[in-house]
Amino acid sequence: MSSSYPKPAIDEDNKPFWDAVRNRKFVLMQCRKCGAWYWPAAYCRNHANQPFYGSLEWREASGRGKVFAYNVHHRAFDPAFKTDLPYVYALIELEEGPMFGTNIVGCDPGDVSIGMDVEIRFIERGGALLPVFGPKG
Ligand SMILES: [Zn+2]
Repeated sequence: MSSSYPKPAIDEDNKPFWDAVRNRKFVLMQCRKCGAWYWPAAYCRNHANQPFYGSLEWREASGRGKVFAYNVHHRAFDPAFKTDLPYVYALIELEEGPMFGTNIVGCDPGDVSIGMDVEIRFIERGGALLPVFGPKG
């Protein structure tokens, strides 16, 4: 593993998410009032005039979803990812509803398809754990 991998861009808003990932947990924001799930951090659209984050908290999610869209990359945006080529970038429609952009690992890129059932995996890159998805086992 190269140590030149870019680090996740962690800020005040997403720090709880990355803290959970470090413990191999996948969390999303859920509304305490109506149960709606959000990613990324947002306000709940089901209640007007609520403060940002007003009724939302981070909760562990199922880590399951389906491939909504994907593409196979044969060139790396960052040279650090050259050894991972070809890799799959996908938009996962999570069981809870939100879309989550990530990589698909654990299968041949040619075996990825729209609607494919996937689940969370954690891989190490440059000393950081990253939330990616793989075929449902
Ligand atoms: Zn709500």
